[in-house]
Amino acid sequence: MTATLIDGKAFAAKVRTEVATHVARVKAEAGITPGLAVVLVGEDPASQVYVRSKGKQTVEVGMASFEHRLEADTSERALLELIDRLNADPQVHGILVQLPLPDHLDSDLVINRIDPTKDVDGFHISNVGLLGTGQKSMVPCTPLGCLMMLREHHGSLSGMNAVVVGRSNIVGKPMAQLLLGDSCTVTIAHSRTRDLAAVCRGADILVAAVGRPRMIPGDWVKPGATVIDVGINRIEDGGKAKLVGDVDFDSAAAVAGAITPVPGGVGPMTIACLLANTVVAAARANGLAEPQGLTV
Ligand code: NDP
Repeated sequence: MTATLIDGKAFAAKVRTEVATHVARVKAEAGITPGLAVVLVGEDPASQVYVRSKGKQTVEVGMASFEHRLEADTSERALLELIDRLNADPQVHGILVQLPLPDHLDSDLVINRIDPTKDVDGFHISNVGLLGTGQKSMVPCTPLGCLMMLREHHGSLSGMNAVVVGRSNIVGKPMAQLLLGDSCTVTIAHSRTRDLAAVCRGADILVAAVGRPRMIPGDWVKPGATVIDVGINRIEDGGKAKLVGDVDFDSAAAVAGAITPVPGGVGPMTIACLLANTVVAAARANGLAEPQGLTV
């Protein structure tokens, strides 16, 4: 391996320390404890793990954690009523509805019911519009974490060629917006892109958010490029369950200038950015100075 390893786990710990400092400041200046409400509908095992981890880290940085676990057959009306209550609750500064929701619930309707100022996932249509027009918004956690790592590694990203593979609303599109905001020349690739290998080879920054294990091999990576691997794929390896990214780590790390591992790269930064968004929301709600370095 010749690439520098971008250690998301270590960077996330640093972000959490900064969040804890701002939580203490909000407590001292406004006399309130920033609070995050997480809503989980059903018993999806991966979602349960994420929700547990989010709750634990929320408390560790000094914030209040409110967990709402609802039955899988919860009605849309009951879920919307819960969101209305959380919107009105002054102890709650951030609301996250864990996705995916069971099929009978309309995710867009549910997400758009959240007060945009409490929408710490940044998925509400108002926040999407604000981000797209370069205005102050709540920024989706995974792309925000990727951007923070890129800024930490490079300083300025201005003028770099960035390729984002994947065009989902939660990762690919907001990632591209953020890179554009930092003056990269951005290409968004997807399943219909022609000659994806050639497109990837043009990238100074390559972000993979596809959901296909080890799909991007080292010979698609420009020598010296920075590779951010968002993918989280569970595979069987020699009879053991293993997590791998969308990038073939070993071959890519032999060519890239820097690369994030899976696990230990983007994943830990996503939760750290959720905590960052919550303290930012609490500061804004109380008219306090914007926490520096925790948002774009
Ligand atoms: P989606 O399934 O919503 O989107 C996947 C995207 O990849 C689509 O735009 C799709 O294109 C594109 N795609 C699929 N196959 C190919 C292909 N063969 N060539 C090029 N593009 C392709 O996934 P998400 O954006 O939600 O997640 C992507 C990955 O990131 C997953 O592994 C997920 O687990 C992980 N993830 C990790 C997070 C973290 O915290 N680290 C957080 C969120 C997600 P098209 O639109 O044309 O179908």
